Amino acid sequence: MLELKNVFLERENRVIIKNMSVAFEDNKVYSILGNNGVGKSTLAYIIMGLENYRDHKGDIIFNSKKINDLSVSERSKLGITLVWQEPVRFEGITTREYLTLGGKLKLSNEELLKILNLVGLSEAYLDRIVDSSLSGGERKRIELASALILKPKLVILDEPDSGIDIMSTDMIEAVLNHFKSNGATVLVITHREEIARMTDEAYLMCGGRMLASGTPDEIIAFYKRLCDKCSHTNQPVE
Ligand code: ADP
Ligand code: MG
Ligand code: MG
Repeated sequence: MLELKNVFLERENRVIIKNMSVAFEDNKVYSILGNNGVGKSTLAYIIMGLENYRDHKGDIIFNSKKINDLSVSERSKLGITLVWQEPVRFEGITTREYLTLGGKLKLSNEELLKILNLVGLSEAYLDRIVDSSLSGGERKRIELASALILKPKLVILDEPDSGIDIMSTDMIEAVLNHFKSNGATVLVITHREEIARMTDEAYLMCGGRMLASGTPDEIIAFYKRLCDKCSHTNQPVE
């Protein structure tokens, strides 16, 4: 359902994503493992189509359609969602307003509470303002709730556990299962073994490339062996 063909991105004369070709199937949960700086978030931004990341080479194909020229909002309309590594703040609006897109999404209170419960937040959060009074972990949970409500066809979760304590892996698992049961394809970027084990298939990213794919157990073992050698290439563009 998502295919990258020879995707290449350079920045300041350095290779960030190196001729990446990879295909993800419909309704499967994938993990993308890899050290810091290997290009995982950059890959997420390219798939989402962020303004400054559309100058890549190669093609992004979504459900048989080339989406290279589509903006973030056009890609959202196709059902692509990104949950950022660092959640953004929306000063001045409540969690309820944020989750319902200012009331545009018609959700019953029961549905809202079900989603909040899934991400481990109580009803009291609905009236909280989404600002710096929330912890990073709380904002991350709100972001996950927001993505769940949108029922995306493709969702990229960039380190969903960052800022959230280690005890919350059950929450992450419930979130992944919920996306999958709604028919989504899920790409989870993570450093955590427990999270990779929740997925159907794993990829190891290294130096702007997909180095290997396989079962989570295979890729975790491979990653452990290669970890030290697997940094960003930081290669100059030829
Ligand atoms: P990861 O998410 O795997 O930790 P990133 O995708 O954030 O890695 O970054 C990949 C590499 O690209 C890093 O070496 C980073 O410094 C570099 N990079 C990202 N954005 C830019 C940019 N705008 N200019 C120069 N280098 C960048
Ligand atoms: Mg990182
Ligand atoms: Mg990152």
